[in-house]
Amino acid sequence: MGMGDDDEEVEEYLFKVVIIGDSAVGKSNLLSRYARNEFNLHSKATIGVEFQTQSMEIDGKEVKAQIWDTAGQERFRAVTSAYYRGAFGALVVYDISRRSTFENVGRWLQELNTHSDTTVAKMLVGNKCDLQNIREVSVDEGKALAESEGLFFMETSALDSTNVKTAFEIVIKEIYKNVSRKIL
Ligand code: GDP
Repeated sequence: MGMGDDDEEVEEYLFKVVIIGDSAVGKSNLLSRYARNEFNLHSKATIGVEFQTQSMEIDGKEVKAQIWDTAGQERFRAVTSAYYRGAFGALVVYDISRRSTFENVGRWLQELNTHSDTTVAKMLVGNKCDLQNIREVSVDEGKALAESEGLFFMETSALDSTNVKTAFEIVIKEIYKNVSRKIL
């Protein structure tokens, strides 16, 4: 509580963002690259949901994103509705060097739509774009899918940091836009 009547209101926002996609597409590493600027070559996911909070400034306001990682639960098809609950943004990730992970994007989108209770800002993320020599999904295919599903699209590399920050920030800005449109 402020001491005086004229204390400036500090506007703060906290939004939940989820990362989904097949096992080993790089979800944990995208999050650790964004939140801690770290990358693990042989990361072994701990089981159980984990999140990191990261803030950015938009229109002079502090906007915090609580970003959730499935932490391996998708291996058992055990991503529950609680994981999706209250999410305002989602990164749907595939691995550009493994076509099957791209083919499963539709399933993840369906699951997201089933469980979400609000407008969700969605970004399709083709991760591991550093692996050009073993690419199995072209940039155009990614773009086309994103366009047809109404998603933002970006290729990223958690390994060399390409577009990681940008991808998260586009989603967070879009959430802010969606929410402020509703409350103003
Ligand atoms: P998750 O199961 O989706 O959370 O995937 P992880 O983040 O655990 O990553 C799975 C494997 O892919 C690990 O061996 C990572 O080192 C590797 N990996 C993650 N992101 C990238 C990337 O951008 N480029 C490359 N070359 N490897 C990556």
